[in-house]
Amino acid sequence: MTRDERERLVTLEQQMRDSREDMAELKLDVKAIRSVLAEARGGWKILLLLGGAAAAIGRLRQAAGQRFRRRPAVSFFAHWSQVPERLWRWPDFAPAEIASRGDGSILIAPDALDRLQALRDALRRPVTVTSAYRDPVHNARVGGAPLSRHKAGDAFDIALRGHDRAEMLEAARAAGFTGFGFYSSFLHIDCGPKRQWGNTSWTY
Ligand SMILES: [Zn+2]
Repeated sequence: MTRDERERLVTLEQQMRDSREDMAELKLDVKAIRSVLAEARGGWKILLLLGGAAAAIGRLRQAAGQRFRRRPAVSFFAHWSQVPERLWRWPDFAPAEIASRGDGSILIAPDALDRLQALRDALRRPVTVTSAYRDPVHNARVGGAPLSRHKAGDAFDIALRGHDRAEMLEAARAAGFTGFGFYSSFLHIDCGPKRQWGNTSWTY
């Protein structure tokens, strides 16, 4: 066996070990999620447990995304203070602003946050987010739609104070937002299917 062949063999053996470890980790995560979901179905601690399951699925997707280089994975943290700094790339927004006003949990949808940052960059003025991610309990409490995009982490309510409405709407469209809800004190923007609701004479 030549030196070259030996090196290739060692590399392949290492890659084998690495992928075996990856698979084992993924299997453990899947097992944990399954047991949490099974427990949640039968118990009164359902919301607590579902939070844990969501976190585990978030980790799993994150791991899968990193391993197989898919599009940016959505990640969930039970509290915004747990978000690692290296994961946060939106300079004008803080995890606390994007987190649920209910339990402080956060679902990070990188693509949606990129659009929010693009909107902020285009407006060149501070953008106040009054509601972004909502945990299911909080969403219900504030009267949000059961299928609200806020629960998917890709919706933001932007305060209108200090902004020109028409400019804001145009900039949001240009930034890639596709859903719009027109309210008197804020504009709802999201990355869901193309649609809009609220006052049609919103821009005056
Ligand atoms: Zn909204």
